[in-house]
Amino acid sequence: MLVHIKDLIKKAQKGNYAVGAFNVFNLETTLGVVRAAVKMGAPVIVQVSETTIEYAGLKPITQIVESVAKNEAVKIPVALHLDHGKSFRSVAECIKVGFSSIHIDASDIPFEENIILTKQAVDYAHKHNVWAQGELGILRGVEDKAQVPEDMAPFFTDPDQAAEFVVKTGIDTLAVSIGNMHGIKKFRDIGVPDLDLKRLEMIHKKISNIPIVLHGASGVLEKQLEQSVEFGVRIINIDTELRLAFSNAMRQILERDSSIYDPRQIFAPATDILQRVVEEKIRMFGSAGKS
Ligand SMILES: [Zn+2]
Repeated sequence: MLVHIKDLIKKAQKGNYAVGAFNVFNLETTLGVVRAAVKMGAPVIVQVSETTIEYAGLKPITQIVESVAKNEAVKIPVALHLDHGKSFRSVAECIKVGFSSIHIDASDIPFEENIILTKQAVDYAHKHNVWAQGELGILRGVEDKAQVPEDMAPFFTDPDQAAEFVVKTGIDTLAVSIGNMHGIKKFRDIGVPDLDLKRLEMIHKKISNIPIVLHGASGVLEKQLEQSVEFGVRIINIDTELRLAFSNAMRQILERDSSIYDPRQIFAPATDILQRVVEEKIRMFGSAGKS
């Protein structure tokens, strides 16, 4: 069933666990994520990015998620979220079609401007009973020019600024940069960086009632994820690992049997493999059985 994200996260705060936020881009990936949540008895956040909206269309992808949530997850709570909304317009469009949560990501512009744009999105979201996620600190990733994780520290979230940001914008959740990283590069080149858990602890102390969001969590070790949950992380985003699982599965299936011409023979097993990755993440986040 489709629910408001606040129902999931308030419960996660009380129960001291994190809810997985998994990126989807079509029917198959949505089925994989939602079926994993059903199997694990776990609440789940299904999220779409602006590039997915460009790819699938806002209304089609929204209705796919709504329909899969309603029909596949009869008793399991599923929340729909916009991941990395870069403009007020993009956020407003998702709110209009029924998202219960949006992310306004102005982390790449100066602090004061980030506050202004984020507050504008938060005010609009709250007027429509929607939760808003803000972001402070830059995550390295796809556009990353730095070659080693040590170069990342100057871009990490500052705990004092985080406190000021929360007060001035009124955000419901905060995405932080503590060594977490987007994209495929950490798997192919530099390795998955360690999280700066001391910094996370300091941020949590400053904004203890605000759920913290960990982006770019693909590949992060289970022990570090567990510790991040102790320091206030309530939402963990997984995208790259799902793309890898889905693409690798399709590649293997096609390489194994070049006579396949029915796309369902490729998509069905790839969806199953993606589902297993999501199940494993749900177990790591502590949200299994918490629906
Ligand atoms: Zn992200």
